[in-house]
Amino acid sequence: MAQTDPNCIFCKIVRKEISADEVLRDEHVVAFRDLNPQAPTHVLVIPTEHAAHLSDFMQQAPAQAAHLLAAASELGRRFGPGGYRVVMNEGADAGQTVHHLHAHVLAGRRMTWPPG
Ligand code: AMP
Repeated sequence: MAQTDPNCIFCKIVRKEISADEVLRDEHVVAFRDLNPQAPTHVLVIPTEHAAHLSDFMQQAPAQAAHLLAAASELGRRFGPGGYRVVMNEGADAGQTVHHLHAHVLAGRRMTWPPG
């Protein structure tokens, strides 16, 4: 059975216990609009299975990790025909605030580099 955390806010979105503005859902991922968007399109892609970090998930479920990236690129192409950015924050130094793996997909404006 897929791992889930009863207290995790993103697991609650997977279980539909709290609502989200979903743009994609299948067996392995859910994608929904970020509550605090940093670009005209800002979507989060999460695995339906709970894993805190990319490095854990690569060990635990590498096929689902690849599926998550495929979904992120599909959404990037859909929402950012002129280009898009995928960001995954892991750990305190990167500013991770929700400890359920997620890829940010940002599109709809020109991005700058380096990120803050
Ligand atoms: P990170 O800082 O990489 O952990 O990003 C967590 C992201 O989750 C932030 O951009 C938040 O705005 C977003 N977020 C937190 N709770 C929700 C929620 N219930 N629905 C949508 N986005 C959320």
